[in-house]
Amino acid sequence: MIEVQTIQVGELDTNCYIITDTETESIAIIDPGDVSKKLQKIAQRYAEKIKYILLTHGHFDHIAYAKYLQNTTNAKIVISKIDEPLLKDNMLNLAIPFDGRPVPEVQADITLQDNDILPFGNTEIRFLLTPGHTKGSGCFLIENHLFTGDTLMKLSIGRTDFPNGNIGEMKNSLRRLAELKQNYKVYPGHGNLSDMQYEKMYNPYINSVI
Ligand SMILES: [Zn+2]
Repeated sequence: MIEVQTIQVGELDTNCYIITDTETESIAIIDPGDVSKKLQKIAQRYAEKIKYILLTHGHFDHIAYAKYLQNTTNAKIVISKIDEPLLKDNMLNLAIPFDGRPVPEVQADITLQDNDILPFGNTEIRFLLTPGHTKGSGCFLIENHLFTGDTLMKLSIGRTDFPNGNIGEMKNSLRRLAELKQNYKVYPGHGNLSDMQYEKMYNPYINSVI
């Protein structure tokens, strides 16, 4: 079983999630999007326990603290193969266009393809490639928890008008999420938590594709 803690980081209030496998106390951190005192404390205290830094996509507001965590903990940096180049390109990851300054470049340790599975404590993490917001955007599925990054947000979706975005791909990705059988809890990259049943009922973007 896992427990999820949310820490909001950065000017864009990115949701950074701390996932703990309660039986083994293994930790994974999703989208450490900015410098954070809380994250720094967690890194110092649990350096050995942190197995993965999982990046839903390569935008600066989801990756900015990954390098620090890679340097100070046991964690491996995980991102889709397709979005990997954004980790070293401060134009493509939007740091320069949006924020006017670069974020630390970071080398991925593991790159993912659609449906790849990572062992995590007594459970596992499945990666769903869900392009649209960026070409290599994805969701992480852990037990009944779905971490959607900027693909799906409560009653909304991520922008598709950035250089790597594509509205057609986004629609296919939303359809795929809507077809998941279980009523997964949804943990988006920004904003409030939700669940798939609620999104299928009320999210206008999902409604337009199912
Ligand atoms: Zn984004």
